[in-house]
Order: sequence, then C-alpha cells, then structure tokens
Amino acid sequence: MMAALKISGSMSTALRSSNYLLSAKFLMQIHFTRKMSTDAHSIASQLNNSGLLRTQGLIGGQWRDAYDGKTIKVYNPATGEPIADVACMGGRETNDAISSAFDAFRSWSKITAAERSKFLRKWYDLLMAHKEELAQLITLEQGKPLTESMGEVNYGAGFIEFASEEAKRIYGDIIPAPLSDRRLFVLKQPVGVVGAITPWNFPLAMITRKVGPALACGCTVVIKPSELTPLTALAAAELSIQAGIPAGVVNVVMGNAPDIGDALVASPQVRKITFTGSTAVGKKLMAGSAETVKKVSLELGGNAPCIVFDDADLDVAVKGTLAAKFRNSGQTCVCANRILVQEGIYDKFANALLDAVQSMKVGDGFSEGVAQGPLINEAAVKKVDSLIHDATSKGAKVILGGKRHSLGSTFYEPTIISDVDNEMRISREEAFGPVAPLLRFKTEEDAIRIANDTNAGLGSYVFTNSIQRSWRVAEALEYGLVGVNEGVISTEVAPFGGFKQSGLGREGSKYGMDEYLEIKYVCLGNMNKD
Ligand code: ADP
Repeated sequence: MMAALKISGSMSTALRSSNYLLSAKFLMQIHFTRKMSTDAHSIASQLNNSGLLRTQGLIGGQWRDAYDGKTIKVYNPATGEPIADVACMGGRETNDAISSAFDAFRSWSKITAAERSKFLRKWYDLLMAHKEELAQLITLEQGKPLTESMGEVNYGAGFIEFASEEAKRIYGDIIPAPLSDRRLFVLKQPVGVVGAITPWNFPLAMITRKVGPALACGCTVVIKPSELTPLTALAAAELSIQAGIPAGVVNVVMGNAPDIGDALVASPQVRKITFTGSTAVGKKLMAGSAETVKKVSLELGGNAPCIVFDDADLDVAVKGTLAAKFRNSGQTCVCANRILVQEGIYDKFANALLDAVQSMKVGDGFSEGVAQGPLINEAAVKKVDSLIHDATSKGAKVILGGKRHSLGSTFYEPTIISDVDNEMRISREEAFGPVAPLLRFKTEEDAIRIANDTNAGLGSYVFTNSIQRSWRVAEALEYGLVGVNEGVISTEVAPFGGFKQSGLGREGSKYGMDEYLEIKYVCLGNMNKD
C-alpha cells in the first residue's frame, strides 16, 4: 500500500513537477540560503517520486496511519518551515508493531545466517544506491551540511554491511567436559524482539547501528526514531522492504515518545531495549525494563574531554579539536565538551583554534562550503546561550562568537570561550552546540583528574607526540572511547559505548553483536549409554 503523502502547505505545488532531478553534486554547487524554501520543496518532491518520502508508520509490512489519524509536523531546522506531516502514533500502534515483530521472529530467527546475510547485503546495496537522496533527507530534516550527511550515509550503511558479514560468524563453543560421559555446548541465539529508540542527531546511523546487528543475529525490531527526524528512518525502512526483508522484521512507529516507550518496556514480548539519547530518558527506560527483566543497551550523554599537551603537534591538535568539537554543529554525544589545554601551549593553541574556527562557514546545509548548519531547535539554542551566560558570569571570556548568528533561525555563531573551569555548568553538562570551552591545566595528573571528574565516560581525545604519554593517559581515562591525535574515531568495525553514566553495552564491531544474543549452555549427559 502506497503511503498517502501529506506534505505541508505550498509544498504540494512542487510535488506536481515530476521530472525535477537534483543530484547532490548540483545541490552542492548552488547557494540555497535565500531560496531554500523552493529548493527544499523540490528535494522533497524528488524524494517522493523515488518512493523514499514516507510519512506513515511501518507495521507488519504495511504503511499505516495512526488509529486516530493524528499527525505531527517535521520541520527543516534551517528555515523553520514544515517539511511533512507524519503519523503520530502511540501505545496501540506500538503494540501492533510488537505483535508483528513477535510473529516475524519465528521465521526470521529460523532461516540460515547466510540467508539473513544476503538480505542485509541487499539492504546495504540499496542504501548506497540511494546515498544522495538519503543524504538530502538528512540535511533537510536535521540540518547538517550535505557533505556530512553523505558521510553519515556511508557510516550508517557500513553497519548494515558489517552486520551482513558478521551474521555468518556467530559461533558457539564446545567446552571440554569435566566428566567423561558428558558433552558441553554453548549456543548463541537471538534475544527476540528488540525495541530500538533513536535520537535526531544521526537520523540514519543510529538506526542502522542497532538494526543491522539485531537482524544479523535473528532478532526482529520495532524502531522508534526521533519525532524531529523520522523521514530518514522511514526511507531506510522502505529500502529494507525493497531489499526483500520479510514483513514484520522491521517495524517503525513514531509520535508520542513516552507512550511508545512505555509500550515497548511493558511488553513481555520485547526482550531487549536499545536506546541512544539523553541520560534522563535512558535511566527511565532502564528502570522500566526491570519489570520484565529485559536486556538493555544504552548509549547516553557524554562530557568528552579533549586534552592538548604541550608536546602536541599544533596543527594536528587544532584539526582534531575542530572535528571533535564542531562536526554536526557540536551535536554529537562524542563532541569535545571540555578542551583542556596545557599552560605551555595554551595561548598558541587558542590563537590557532581561533583562526580555524573563524574561517568556518555557517549556513544552510545545502550551500556550498558550509561547515556548520543550524542547531536542531530553539531549545538547543537556549541551552547553549544559558551555558555561555553561566560561564561568563563566573569569569570565562568569549573570544569568538557567543551569540545567535545573523542568519537567524537556529543558527549559532561558532564560539570559543577561554578561562573556563571544571565547576562551571558548561563543564558539567553536555552543551550539544558549537561552543569550545578552553580550560587551562598544569600537569598530566591534573589533566587526568579534571577529565575524569564527571559522571559521563563516552568519548575522549588526547593530543601528544609522546608515545609513552599517549599510553598512560589512554589507560587512565575513564572513557569508552579514546582518540589519540585524532578527532573522529567512530567506525562500524570498532566498539562504541560508554563508561559510568554514559551507558551500557557496545555498538558496532564483533562486541556489538553480543548485545543481541542469548548464551545457551547445553549439557549432553550419559554419553556412554546407547
Ligand atoms: P535528545 O535530548 O537528544 O532529544 P531524548 O532522550 O529526549 O534525547 O530523545 C532520544 C529518543 O528518545 C527520541 O527518539 C525521543 O523521542 C525518545 N524519547 C524521549 N522521551 C522518551 C520516553 N519517555 N520514552 C521513550 N522514548 C523517549
């Protein structure tokens, strides 16, 4: 059943022009800033023609509206304009999706690993074949620059490719038996139906990172994307259908987040919750899952330190810090939140960072050369403003930016503040915005103490030319991820996850597969009797 597309306002006119083809290359060559609304409509139109602009939930292989017909609007953060109205679902639709995933689990978990691998490979191929459209969709609803969106599609699709390969390597064990008439086996089996709740900052990759391994292991899923960015999730789900993945294996519901979350955690048929998002919601889901003793994986907030030692290569440190801090406008859970700079290099580093940040172009993600798009919404701007205000009221100094950008909407000036200390709110909370707070330290011990003085423990970065120091500091940091002389370290082949209150479990790599598997021990006795 084709989705009845509900496009807001004047977009319907644009939808009638069926042959308006925009390649990403072309998009990157033109400046959208002043005429964004028309071109955003054209992109939406093109996506609709390719069948990728879906606005209904996906339940049991059917595109469905909410029972009560309610919808919610999805906005383009660069313009504030609505892009589409999507189904606003709740507990009832979620229970339907759980039932369909539960039914599909019976057959999906029984087919061979090689068959599941082929389905996933096909899905990966389709994601890559539609890379430009998916990237446009990400920029449209999330705001990041188109080049970053293209990177996200590569990264996101990579999880499906990796899962398709790893599906065939879910080995069990045979354990040498302590008694001669026994044989001991370990089987790895899929946990069952998985509820996957994802945020808006990586509308594709946060989904594929969960769904790829889940499907590879033989699980089925109910996905709840963020209501701010459901369109990319729905497009990816559409491609899963085109890949031939059977009905009910992938379901998507969105709308009333607490109702959907409650239904997922309450259901005894859901055996696992995997969540990426705020620490507060993660804790709620963990508590809720206790009732039915579900497996839980959580990827929560970070407070990443980025430590620049006197012996760092200045260019490498500036380039790495820039990437760790400002990608996606600072809106990732591994973005550098505190930049600790040793006193001997502090001034040089601050000046070099200032030069680099000053030359970053802010604008609509579709404009050529833009390095920083808008923040996701007004609440994000207000949070950044209030953290900067708190810091400056306690002695920090704004050396660049520090206010809304003249482009208006939710654009924010790339900001650097100096003389920050670890007690200010900006050092205790995740800014999730384009603010680089500089903290000065004296010794390696000081740096480690300050870096670890937080409840979070996800991403961290170290810049030094000393091999010995890099080992010492990497070992001492209470963080799940450490980038040494590198600001972007996420990849599907390595484990991603946090220490302390940054989460539980790992995503990506062989370790990420274990999160979707139960371990079953089988003891065969009386071997010597026929
Ligand atoms: P962020 O602040 O980054 O948006 P959230 O934790 O609020 O992080 O959102 C991450 C995901 O969790 C989104 O899909 C959101 O809709 C969902 N979410 C928010 N509140 C709840 C809830 N009470 N139960 C389940 N999911 C929720």
